[in-house]
Amino acid sequence: MALSSGPDETPPAPPHSAALARRADGLDTAFGGADVADRLAGLVAQAVGPVVFTTSFGLEDQVLTHLIAGAKLPVTFATLDTGRLFPEVYALWQETEERYGILIRPYYPRHEAVELYVRRNGVNGFYGSREARKACCDIRKVEPLGRALAGADLWLTGLRADQSAARGGVRLAEADAGRGLVKASPLFDWTRERALAFAQRNAVPINPLHARGFVSIGCQPCTRAIRPGEPERAGRWWWEDDAARECGLHVGPDGRLVRSKPPLREAPPAEALA
Ligand code: SF4
Repeated sequence: MALSSGPDETPPAPPHSAALARRADGLDTAFGGADVADRLAGLVAQAVGPVVFTTSFGLEDQVLTHLIAGAKLPVTFATLDTGRLFPEVYALWQETEERYGILIRPYYPRHEAVELYVRRNGVNGFYGSREARKACCDIRKVEPLGRALAGADLWLTGLRADQSAARGGVRLAEADAGRGLVKASPLFDWTRERALAFAQRNAVPINPLHARGFVSIGCQPCTRAIRPGEPERAGRWWWEDDAARECGLHVGPDGRLVRSKPPLREAPPAEALA
């Protein structure tokens, strides 16, 4: 007999969501206790489609790049060039490609959307309100990420659980039902100190801004150095007052970190953007 759900009941997850969740749980169990090289090898070996690693050239991303490139794993490197990055990021991007002999696929925002946003909000309109900031992140990051991950089976990220309270629940592998893929964070249980020690031991190229207090580095106008004792992500969108500041790549519409996200739309027609 078919089961029905009343208006107050949570509808059952679609079968593909359940299958993704089972896969993620299985990967978590199989490789959660392994070292990071074995985690990466195991995750990639069990993928049933393209594997994409999105890097923003932060410390953790550089550690993963070193490991993925060193092991010659079949992984596509991708990055989101918002057009507002630090010059040091572009220099590190080039240095990383040369050092590891890889090409990092760039994804850019839709130019019509950026042009209309700037016309309506100003070139630095993201300082005006939280909504304007989120709209900018949606245009420059979230929509391009959707294209970077289109068709991927496994998404590798450099998230760590102790980066912020909002990321505290990050596991090795999680289902992202909205995108129809498994999202994996092989450094989920690493500390920043461990990542830095690894980078130094292996001469991994890292952003020189880290040494000047820029711990979590995003777009130049939205990132500042942190002071001693401040949380790692305090320098991101520092003018906003809540603790769960994210750009939208890893969060839902309510601002909380989520494990799945609705499919991303193509950039809306220019005139539909408020
Ligand atoms: S971090 Fe700042 S400049 Fe970059 S996309 Fe978000 S609001 Fe725009």
